[in-house]
Amino acid sequence: MTHDVIIIGGGPAGLAAAIYAGRAKLDGFVLEKMSPGGQVLITDRVENYPGFPEGLTGFELVEKFSAHAQKFGMKIENGEVASIEPVGDLLNISLTDQRTITTRSIIVATGATHRKLGVKGEDEFIGRGVSYCATCDGPFFRDQVVAVVGGGDSAVQEAIFLTRFAKKVYLIHRRDELRAIKVLADRAKENDKIEFVWDSVVEEIEGDDQVRSLKILNRKTGETSTLKVDGVFIFIGIVPVTDFVKGLVETDEMGFIKTDQWMRTSVKGVYAAGDCRQKPLLQIVTAVAEGATAAYAVEHDLA
Ligand code: NAP
Repeated sequence: MTHDVIIIGGGPAGLAAAIYAGRAKLDGFVLEKMSPGGQVLITDRVENYPGFPEGLTGFELVEKFSAHAQKFGMKIENGEVASIEPVGDLLNISLTDQRTITTRSIIVATGATHRKLGVKGEDEFIGRGVSYCATCDGPFFRDQVVAVVGGGDSAVQEAIFLTRFAKKVYLIHRRDELRAIKVLADRAKENDKIEFVWDSVVEEIEGDDQVRSLKILNRKTGETSTLKVDGVFIFIGIVPVTDFVKGLVETDEMGFIKTDQWMRTSVKGVYAAGDCRQKPLLQIVTAVAEGATAAYAVEHDLA
């Protein structure tokens, strides 16, 4: 059986594409590796998505997106894509469980995942004090001391969130100025539980059965010091989940997929939307808009 469109990834971009594809009566489904949601699922509070002035949890927003996509007939199926191969005018998707799906078009909406620090102790202490998800692991650090690494929106937003549980949050940033937007930066600076550790990088994560301290290098003075912490949350940016299309579609040097304004990639029939795409603003609202645009382009191009 040949489908009209397969949407790979069930985050905001994929689910918005599914709403539009479903309403356009295209045949296909969403392929999701785990459960729908993507990075939004681990966001405690979404307060900049239009229509929800009070804010809502990432989980609540994803539930609404999924229900909305399914209302228009788009199913969400489990499966992990290994590779995509164009065969004439069609595309074959090979899954890691050996299944093959044949389709006329594909929307890649696989998003991005967290970047790692790459220091000694990071892998060793994952789940024992090293975390990439404050919403998941924050409550384990009630009345304890934690550090957050990074200076972008994620680091600052999650540092503020962690002050609900931890008695102290060090925010370690490699420069002396935050990258995060002003509203978040101001909120963090006004929070008594947050102490900034400027111009500094983590050189090593140390501990025994769990994290006990961080070895910190001050890049301005060259001094190293030890910071006692019970946990460390790492938010130093994202890497796109695009390995399975490497060598197929054109990407930038970081692996983000290049598209035109209709979300068409360099390969006919393959579209990309959301955080896996090269673009200036990574937000839920832009991911959703791109998902809609990609589905509209699929409908137009198939016709
Ligand atoms: P980001 O904006 O790329 O920021 C990454 C931060 O980590 C930067 O401060 C960077 O330092 C630092 N960094 C990078 N590599 C490092 C390393 N090896 N060691 C130490 N520090 C390192 O990433 P993000 O905060 O994850 O955000 C990703 C995207 O999602 C952004 O577009 C952001 O706007 C968006 N987002 C939005 C919201 C919101 O709207 N509320 C929330 C979360 C994320 P430098 O500043 O020196 O480069």
